[in-house]
Amino acid sequence: MGRRFKCVVCGRLFPEGQGVFIGRGGLTLTFHSSRCAYKFLKLLFERADERCVLDTARGLVSELERVVELREARVQKRV
Ligand SMILES: [Zn+2]
Repeated sequence: MGRRFKCVVCGRLFPEGQGVFIGRGGLTLTFHSSRCAYKFLKLLFERADERCVLDTARGLVSELERVVELREARVQKRV
């Protein structure tokens, strides 16, 4: 049997190759499903220091908006 991981949100055990893993700075968070990952993300966003989280979130939103715009421009060129 392979390695098993525990979901930090609901405690469910799941096998390697499934679930969602997010790691940084020596901490790895393991989630058995994207639904549990979403729950955690929501709590993190609500509780983290506003100054840190809002600037990063705004930057990320504009970065992703640019990606969407580029994709839409490419689709329009093809039509
Ligand atoms: Zn879970």
